Amino acid sequence: MNEQPNITVGVCENDEAIAGSFYGSFHVAGGKPLNGPFRAIAGGDVVMLLDGSGREILRHPSIHCIPSEGATFSLESVSIGRNFHWERRRTERFEGALTFIAGRGGGVTAVNTLPIESYLASVISSEMSGTAPGEFLKAQAIVSRSWLAAMLLRKARPSVTPPASVRHIQGEEEIIRWYDRQDHEQFDVCADDHCQRYQGISLRGRAAEAVRETSGIFLTWRGEVCDARFHKACGGLTERFGTAWEDIDVPYLVSVSDGPDIFDTADTEQKARLWLLSRPDVYCATEDSDFLARILPDYDRETADFFRWRLVYSRRDLERIIEDKSQREIGTLYEILPLARGPSGRIHRLRIVGSRRTLEIGKELEIRRVLSQSHLYSSAFTVQAEGGTSDVPERFVFHGGGWGHGVGLCQIGAAVMAQRGFSTEAILAHYFPGTSLERRYR
Ligand SMILES: [Zn+2]
Ligand SMILES: [Zn+2]
Repeated sequence: MNEQPNITVGVCENDEAIAGSFYGSFHVAGGKPLNGPFRAIAGGDVVMLLDGSGREILRHPSIHCIPSEGATFSLESVSIGRNFHWERRRTERFEGALTFIAGRGGGVTAVNTLPIESYLASVISSEMSGTAPGEFLKAQAIVSRSWLAAMLLRKARPSVTPPASVRHIQGEEEIIRWYDRQDHEQFDVCADDHCQRYQGISLRGRAAEAVRETSGIFLTWRGEVCDARFHKACGGLTERFGTAWEDIDVPYLVSVSDGPDIFDTADTEQKARLWLLSRPDVYCATEDSDFLARILPDYDRETADFFRWRLVYSRRDLERIIEDKSQREIGTLYEILPLARGPSGRIHRLRIVGSRRTLEIGKELEIRRVLSQSHLYSSAFTVQAEGGTSDVPERFVFHGGGWGHGVGLCQIGAAVMAQRGFSTEAILAHYFPGTSLERRYR
């Protein structure tokens, strides 16, 4: 990679109709210049593009709109945080080209094409607030850029192992699944948490500066661009790669203590319980609400108890959630039993014992998905059954820690490091041991 590549971002996927506006003129092959409000409507295997007064301008399986100098566009009702507790819809503004594609599911998909550095300026300000400390924003810019380049390279290679398996063993059902970003066929990345949050140009602030200052700089390991992962808050210890995805060791995605002190791993039941019920003095354990308001986007500030959290379900509620999310009948829920944990205490294999069926699920994101209406903050938790009889409890109490998969950069911890005077280089060396920084283009 010696020059800046373009990236294609799926902003809306398979919607019935997409409304928005062109600011400045956009050109389409075989049409007049476009300006002002538009609607794109799904019509089977074609997309119909209508102007502000509802007149049809074009119909085609894909419509590519190219901006003239300085032109931008907006899309209404863009979904963010899909299936997570912070889900909502907003109008977002974008730069670059806009393509409407007739989606596989009969809807219409909107794809934004733009240079990787412009994309990153939006990603950094969508993931974290543009008012966060500069050294942190630069670290986040380098991490996102590296992750993206590694993902594009991986996507170019054929996939080896399918990231999902369902097996039946002696009446038990095992569902092991992980989620990665090669899932998209019509574009490189989606605009949501599944890949990286990309919410257009409205929020940028200082983030754009951080991207410019680090332009073309990548995190590398022995000359190769790192698959640099990141998450909101590790909970005190970061996690190894294999807990969340394919069970391999990635040399720079290992567990580290998120502070100057070294803590023991939390990979057994006893150690996990002690760890998750304690409040170690680590970078991401901050409770400084003014500082969190500076670093987190507004909708993330609603997640106040990310470092240590507690959740109580009645048995009946949890049975309903598990049956709904796993699409399996479990009957009466007897027990939730962690079978394997990573070093941060995150569970990657969990047994759910019901009267009708026993389920074994993994990995961390699948566990978070199945045990919550939206998603649990993390899979680092201990469960206590309370009330009822010894066989049939009345409720389940979860004590958890951290927010996200825990692998790589802990965003809140990294922002605290920057506030305490650590440089971008020191922050990256802390979360990605043994890596270097290399500039590949300007
Ligand atoms: Zn995605
Ligand atoms: Zn942390």
